[in-house]
Amino acid sequence: MKGSIRLFRIFGISINIHVTFLLLLVLFLSGGIKWLVLMIGVFFFVTLHELCHSLVAKRFGIQVREITLLPIGGVASMTSMPEKPIHEFFISIAGPLFNIAVVAVLYYPLKSLLGPETLFHRPFSTATWPLTIAYLYWINLILALFNLIPAFPMDGGRVLRALLAQRMSYQKATKIAVNLGHLFALGFAYFGIVGFNVILIIIAIFIYIAASNEELQVDLKETLKKFRVRDILSADFFTLNSDTTLAKVLELIFHSHQEDFPVLEGGEMVGFVTRHEIISGIHSLGMRTLVKDVMSKDFPKVTDADLLIKAQKLMEENSIRALPVMRNGHAVGVVTLEDIGRIYAITSQKA
Ligand SMILES: [Zn+2]
Repeated sequence: MKGSIRLFRIFGISINIHVTFLLLLVLFLSGGIKWLVLMIGVFFFVTLHELCHSLVAKRFGIQVREITLLPIGGVASMTSMPEKPIHEFFISIAGPLFNIAVVAVLYYPLKSLLGPETLFHRPFSTATWPLTIAYLYWINLILALFNLIPAFPMDGGRVLRALLAQRMSYQKATKIAVNLGHLFALGFAYFGIVGFNVILIIIAIFIYIAASNEELQVDLKETLKKFRVRDILSADFFTLNSDTTLAKVLELIFHSHQEDFPVLEGGEMVGFVTRHEIISGIHSLGMRTLVKDVMSKDFPKVTDADLLIKAQKLMEENSIRALPVMRNGHAVGVVTLEDIGRIYAITSQKA
């Protein structure tokens, strides 16, 4: 995610912290060492919450690339969406269930350790270390309840969509959970403005944008199911010989609008070279480098009869932005994320 810093990796998932979350830490730093410990505790439980989502997702065969910690909680970036609503249900419920489990498991130990007066002390306080621990304990309950709000982008929104999708279309179920997300965002914004609470207003903005984004993603996927790769394939396209120099390729990029090329040897496709590979090849190896030295030999591809959604999914899963298009074993074109974005922009425009 843009604007985030990687902290460490666990189970093959990189744990990142967003700069806005760091700002929050700095804000709380002024509250003293107990505040800082409290915030690091929150960070710890939010990370475990996200890891629970991620580990359930992995069980359903979904790759999780990274977890990013934002002020409103964490986001686990999955390379694909759950295929079945029931999978989404289990993935989404796992996080809040973890926090509820923490609350349940620690209840009696903390009650006897801290004493009920400290554990149930209100308002929450960091005046003493026992009170700080009690505070951190209750934050788990808040995390669980907040995330169970049945609206996007909270986990509860996904749970709701998964349940609604059992009896209506996925798109319609999404729309309902998104509208609820907007409604909650407006509610948070209202209380933020009335109570002069900046954090609440920031949360409201985050919720609003994230809810809209979810709808956009689902609409995009629905649109891409209606088109085949050949529907957007450009009639003229260029291929490269494997012993072409990068200088020549750069010239071709300038003269054409194509930036990614199938690479041929004796008429057979032997590789694929992308804008990124060409540019980094020029920077690190120089203009006289040959295409065959920077191209990928192992790359995903689509056929011109495939649905666009398949092309989009392959690019997303492999973190790439272009794919060669094949017909009867021969390269007949290239499809890029920009092409997909363009078709979506055109077809989604409402008159
Ligand atoms: Zn969650």
